[in-house]
Amino acid sequence: MTKLAIAIHGGAGTITPASMTPELEAAYKAALQAAVDAGYQVLENGGSALDAVEKAVVKLEDTPMFNAGKGSVFTKEGKHEMDASIMWGKTLEAGAVAGVRSIRNPVVLARAIMERSEHVFMSAYGAEEFARMHKLAFEPEAYFYDPYRYKQWCEVRDTGHFMLDHSQEKKFGTVGAVALDARGNVAAATSTGGMTNKNFNRIGDSPVIGAGTYANNRTCAVSCTGHGEYFLRAVVAYDVSCLMEYKGYTLQQACDYVVMDKLVKFGGEGGLVALDTSGEVALPFNSEGMYRACRKQGEAAWVAIYKR
Ligand code: ASP
Repeated sequence: MTKLAIAIHGGAGTITPASMTPELEAAYKAALQAAVDAGYQVLENGGSALDAVEKAVVKLEDTPMFNAGKGSVFTKEGKHEMDASIMWGKTLEAGAVAGVRSIRNPVVLARAIMERSEHVFMSAYGAEEFARMHKLAFEPEAYFYDPYRYKQWCEVRDTGHFMLDHSQEKKFGTVGAVALDARGNVAAATSTGGMTNKNFNRIGDSPVIGAGTYANNRTCAVSCTGHGEYFLRAVVAYDVSCLMEYKGYTLQQACDYVVMDKLVKFGGEGGLVALDTSGEVALPFNSEGMYRACRKQGEAAWVAIYKR
């Protein structure tokens, strides 16, 4: 029998005990625990890995502490533009959105594109019209506002620089999930507000299938977080899968090589969550920390932030 498993992330970066208060740390851990539990519950009730990753990511999108959905960072224009993607390892079907505004849960829109359109990837106005047609939830601009993100943006808005969620702390607040269900199917999903003061219409790795997200029942499911410009060019998620498929690497070997060796040499800071069809989980990151959690059948949930 397949062992159920789920792993999630809420971003990676320079996250150290010194940059946290005990209250904030407890709040992050509680939010991660709630999201991993919500996803696991879906698996336990016989739901698919696809339903589980969507559920966990929606939970994280609804939590303003993370840079996705509510609490997304500000663009150069002082707006929010969100990217998301989802992939089903059983069929290799995928859905993705880039640069959408006012969509409450971009991951739900990505899944709708996968299941209810002929397409894989839609952006901006066209994606929003599709969401409207399918009666997905919209929110006013004020819903996405978070005072912390606004402060970050005010610090750089006139400088012409853009920052990775918080460049002083190098914290990437993207969210993502991977899961394995009782039928042995894997799925992955990722969602982000991108980078503070990013050029409008800038797109990172998160919505790009193969870069920020990938799932294939023959190998693994992967969701990334980190400096998108590097993760895009390193085609990170697919690279992990390829090493397993073509070179026979284990999940851990593939993740270690891509995240701790190739990406480090390339200058790409960040990490990922991944699992394979036997329920092995890998949570590698080459930054100071990564908000992460996982839960496997028969084991208690595990939540962590810093390097151990
Ligand atoms: N990868 C995301 C991006 O570049 C940022 C993040 O992971 O926080 O848009």
